[in-house]
Amino acid sequence: MAGRIDIDGVSVSPDHFIGGKRVTSPGTFETRCPFEWSRKLADMARGNAQTAALAADAASAAFPAWAALSAAERGVFLHRLADLIEANVEKLAMVECLDMGMLLESLRLRVILRGAANFRNYADLATGREERVWSSRGTLNRVIRMPAGPALIITPWNAPFMLSTWKCAPALAAGNTVILKPADWSPLSASVLADLIEEAGFPAGVFNILQGLGAELGNALTSDPRIKRISFTGSVPTARIIGKAAAENIVPFTAELGGKSPLLVFADADIDAAAKKAAGQFDDSGQVCMAGTRIIVEESVKDEFLAKFHAYTDAHVMGDSRDPATTMSALIHPVHAERVLGFIERARAAGDTIVRGGKRWKEGANWIEPTLIVPRDNQSEVVQNEVFGPVLTFQTFRDEAEGIALANSTAYGLSGIVYTGSEERANRVGRAVRGGTVWVNTFLVRDLTAPFGGIGISGIGREGGDYALDFHSDLKTLQILEGSTS
Ligand code: NAD
Repeated sequence: MAGRIDIDGVSVSPDHFIGGKRVTSPGTFETRCPFEWSRKLADMARGNAQTAALAADAASAAFPAWAALSAAERGVFLHRLADLIEANVEKLAMVECLDMGMLLESLRLRVILRGAANFRNYADLATGREERVWSSRGTLNRVIRMPAGPALIITPWNAPFMLSTWKCAPALAAGNTVILKPADWSPLSASVLADLIEEAGFPAGVFNILQGLGAELGNALTSDPRIKRISFTGSVPTARIIGKAAAENIVPFTAELGGKSPLLVFADADIDAAAKKAAGQFDDSGQVCMAGTRIIVEESVKDEFLAKFHAYTDAHVMGDSRDPATTMSALIHPVHAERVLGFIERARAAGDTIVRGGKRWKEGANWIEPTLIVPRDNQSEVVQNEVFGPVLTFQTFRDEAEGIALANSTAYGLSGIVYTGSEERANRVGRAVRGGTVWVNTFLVRDLTAPFGGIGISGIGREGGDYALDFHSDLKTLQILEGSTS
């Protein structure tokens, strides 16, 4: 076992958590602070095929006893974990801020608490609802949610704590044991979570956390036949690789992937609110899968919208994510910053107009200025492909049909944002915009019982509420002829 590391007063283990114990690996990979790139935070244990096998052993061994508990009994552990997350908000927020770069205030006040809510929500949602019973055609029908087996949860580097808890909670509540593999660019909050899992007294092997690099560790995990569910959030290319592994073992697979979501503004909307929300898409430096990155505005209000949008964007402050005055965090990694700059350079070279931003905030730093691009046409790469940085495009439309057509003109379909003052239009356009979630006059408000997922290349399957519990279960229909037994 490697020694624990002190990160601004928080003790963090660089190791895996397998079978209730810390386990290390011979190799390491490093994680650094996005807004102080010279600062190395940790050398993390670099999992390999042996680590994957060890975790699958542990998760398989723990499965029968965990699955045999009632949902209410499992819920006790989930609530205990939620209590511990709430009690450790400050620690978790600081570690996530330093490791991923997300703003400390938003982590402290909102994001980490959502992690606790994820466990509470699923503890309560699963309880007493393992079966649905009704009579029909002379038989008693029972639909039983049977735990499926060890579930593999793979998460991306943006919002690591929120997404990991969102995806692990339903698997555990449904009676599956879990192997969580967080992304190697932001591995630390998962390691703090492992300490809390231990403190919450989960039986050994129920909740395992492995650190490591994508393909190196990931391929060994996804190809293990003992894994009975794979729940993935990340990019489209990785989903294609994992989907093939899932197909090989005939394992159900959900994928929450990238987005290129429209933010559609109609002339009858509150233009100030719409412009403010559009400028808000630069929050977290645009590293948000659901971000409305394609701003599409009705021609008649274009000038009013743009004036307000620029004013709100001017108010953004780049800087240290611990400083409450900062509104735009650094991008996670220099490699990612280069990738984002590459999109901007190709757009410029192809004849798109860079209206604002387009360059680094400071030489060598991981921030890129909030960037607005008017594409030469709708086929421009920055319109069609996810950038995952502070880069928005701006287009206009003359009537509703043209607006909807533009909104629906990419291969993605994760979400959409519509601004309108008309109830009729809200319902009509809300239905017409292609996306797993469409918000009208708001953004990111979520009810955890509602389904979440993407259309097109934005994903397969739905998580949230009963949808995730069904995914993590083998649904059985048991039919007994009425009156035939006593
Ligand atoms: P990524 O696909 O590169 O990596 C995601 C995870 O997969 C990481 O843990 C990585 O280590 C792992 N991985 C990589 N190769 C693997 C392999 N061969 N086998 C198994 N695991 C492997 O994605 P990323 O760059 O970390 O995240 C950004 C992407 O995630 C963006 O496209 C973003 O839109 C998307 N995302 C989607 C949602 C959503 O809910 N739809 C939420 C957040 C992020």
